[in-house]
Amino acid sequence: MLNTLFETMNIVPTVPLRSAAAPAPAAPQLTYRGGPLIQNVNVFCVFWGSDWQNSPASDIATQVTQFFQYIVTSPLIDQLGEYSTNGYTIGQGQLSGTTVITNPDPSSTVDDSDIQNLLQNQITSGALPAPDANTVYFVFTPSGITVTLQGSSSCQQFCGYHDDINGQIFYAVQPYPDCSGCSTGGADIDAITEIASHELSEAITDPIPGQGWYDDSNGEIGDICAWQTKMLDQWTVQLEWSNNANACV
Ligand SMILES: [Zn+2]
Repeated sequence: MLNTLFETMNIVPTVPLRSAAAPAPAAPQLTYRGGPLIQNVNVFCVFWGSDWQNSPASDIATQVTQFFQYIVTSPLIDQLGEYSTNGYTIGQGQLSGTTVITNPDPSSTVDDSDIQNLLQNQITSGALPAPDANTVYFVFTPSGITVTLQGSSSCQQFCGYHDDINGQIFYAVQPYPDCSGCSTGGADIDAITEIASHELSEAITDPIPGQGWYDDSNGEIGDICAWQTKMLDQWTVQLEWSNNANACV
């Protein structure tokens, strides 16, 4: 049993491919594991690569920024309030900034370790703001770049993930979703905001994966409802699991 627990805790939660998403088994239930939660999320968007400086990618980056400006004070955040516990009160947050990083530019394949190094180096240099307990860096890579994570590849095994660095730096990674496994079949921005809402909800309720709100059989709040969507304002977002409603809402 210890081995099982150990393995579970070391698997970084990912957004699965659309084809891999299956209805959760009966009776999912998130339980709190004693770790930190994010109370008032402070999102900083990192667009990694010079591709983001030119249209059409720059137009997408603008839309992503608009999405985060909206979503951090939206009903999506309000519904997470039911998971407030242990002195942590989950409420609305802010988008504190965005930046495009071009030095270094990403190579055609970047590993999670490269992304962790990038974040740490850019924080040290002052190019990125230092994190606090509410900060989540969202890293976006351009079309054509493969992200690898523990031997898995974007668009082959996953569409996004979130994790922490030493329990101090919280971050999410979103490879560009223009591939059959990660597209919604609509505009690229729809897949991006769908995946972003999944990761944002998970980063708030389980910033150190497995130490916040978690279900041993089904994973995190977004995993239970993967690829079930609704519209909020003009944006496509994912449903999230509600213990109170006993449903994806
Ligand atoms: Zn997830």
